[in-house]
Amino acid sequence: MRKYVIMGVQGSGKGTQSQLLREEFDLVHISVGDIFRWQVRNHTKIGAQVKRIMAAGELVGDDLVESVVRRRLDQHDWNYGFIIDGFPRNGRQAEFFMESYDIDAVIHLELPDDEVRRRVLSRRLCPNCGMDYNLIADRPEQEGRCDICGHELVTRADDTPEALEARLRDYHEKTRPVLELFRRKEVVHDVDGRPPLEEVQQAIRTTLGLPPYKG
Ligand SMILES: [Zn+2]
Repeated sequence: MRKYVIMGVQGSGKGTQSQLLREEFDLVHISVGDIFRWQVRNHTKIGAQVKRIMAAGELVGDDLVESVVRRRLDQHDWNYGFIIDGFPRNGRQAEFFMESYDIDAVIHLELPDDEVRRRVLSRRLCPNCGMDYNLIADRPEQEGRCDICGHELVTRADDTPEALEARLRDYHEKTRPVLELFRRKEVVHDVDGRPPLEEVQQAIRTTLGLPPYKG
């Protein structure tokens, strides 16, 4: 069984790297962001709570995140292990999590803030069909138009420079104590998040001692 935590700022490719590991090693990918989005879409009690918090311009509290993750792990459907993203959020949670689940490794995707800004601020979205674009890596054929449906592309509402700075600050503040704790337990694997995604995946597998990525 493989039990991993993946850490990295938004735009670091965490989601993609997790998916690649999940597919090959039959891991359950537990993404706190995805869980909350699902709750909001399905109008659950938690979803309503999350919506209220975000509408007030606040961040979801650590305790709510913890209860959602616990509930998810309690389903015990992770026969081959899991890769968790968005948790733990503070030193106390990290300590508890290490002890309860005996984490094998923490994958720390490193990306300089400048590169995060470049990546995140170049994201575009088709509000009609939901297709994602990126003006650096994934340009639409015709500037500003969706390749699929031809609708005009927009910037995500929360991809403004100000919102991104707030998220970066929050990420660094929250991550530092968690990483420090994991480092003391010697489970952190630092991986450079700048190369193309296949190379990053390969680097992750090498450092974790996993079979190579075949693409
Ligand atoms: Zn479209």
